[in-house]
Amino acid sequence: VSEIEFISEPTVKTLAVSRPVEDAGFTDIDLLPVNAARVSASGFSTDYSSRDAGLERRLIADLHGTPFEHAVMTFFIEVPLFVNAQWHTHRWSSFNQESARYSEMKPRFYLPKEDDWRLQPEKRMDYKYDPACESLGSKARSILKAFCEEQWEAYKLLLSNGIAREQARMVLPENLMTRFWWTVNLRSLANFLSLRTDEHAQKEIRDAAFLIEEEVKKYFPEFHKAWVESGRKAIGA
Ligand SMILES: Cc1cc2nc3c(=O)[nH]c(=O)nc-3n(C[C@H](O)[C@H](O)[C@H](O)COP(=O)(O)OP(=O)(O)OC[C@H]3O[C@@H](n4cnc5c(N)ncnc54)[C@H](O)[C@@H]3O)c2cc1C
Repeated sequence: VSEIEFISEPTVKTLAVSRPVEDAGFTDIDLLPVNAARVSASGFSTDYSSRDAGLERRLIADLHGTPFEHAVMTFFIEVPLFVNAQWHTHRWSSFNQESARYSEMKPRFYLPKEDDWRLQPEKRMDYKYDPACESLGSKARSILKAFCEEQWEAYKLLLSNGIAREQARMVLPENLMTRFWWTVNLRSLANFLSLRTDEHAQKEIRDAAFLIEEEVKKYFPEFHKAWVESGRKAIGA
């Protein structure tokens, strides 16, 4: 079916980040957590210095999480529905997602590349997956592709018969791509990145989590450095 798009990568875009206003007295957004912490002793930094770097590491080591809640990022994300379901377990964040009631879904399906299929390990709760060989990957892709085409036809058929979008969506598979906005503070991001870039997390959410990490590094480089050097852990979660 020609209108169908198959996608093998998540999309992550930063839409907004916390920024001090003009008369805040500092412009560097990396100072948001340390200046929030310094208010307890009436202190204030205007330029990020080694003292701030030391304080930031100290806050992380002491699990003093609240200063990191003053810096917030908003992302646009496109992932398959099954990844979105895992994402939603991160309750300390805000979501707004495209609606399958208010709009007709787009025929965009997640399809792993040929060399990106995994074999089921024999042991339960074993997170070490061996890769499937390329011919099995190729076969798995064909099966999934044919299934998506069939499901899409069923969706269109239900809609063309006048069935409501909110019910027609029941035939759509878990690998349908969905889009959402995600707003989250740095404390919760540390928790998310610690859990979802870990090798125990499913590869599809890990891929997206590493893209989120790149954005955190871009906008909050000092925070990212301190968090990585402190062991990539949650900050008092
Ligand atoms: C590898 C992996 C496998 C997983 N497997 C499963 C699974 O099989 N089934 C499943 O359901 N989930 C599963 N999860 C999801 C997991 O259980 C968490 O729900 C998810 O990682 C969100 O973590 P969080 O609660 O720390 O995050 P958030 O919800 O963002 O919470 C952040 C922190 O706030 C605190 N907090 C939030 N809510 C409460 C509360 N109600 N009471 C007390 N403290 C609170 C906690 O300290 C928490 O760490 C899995 C996660 C991973 C990484």
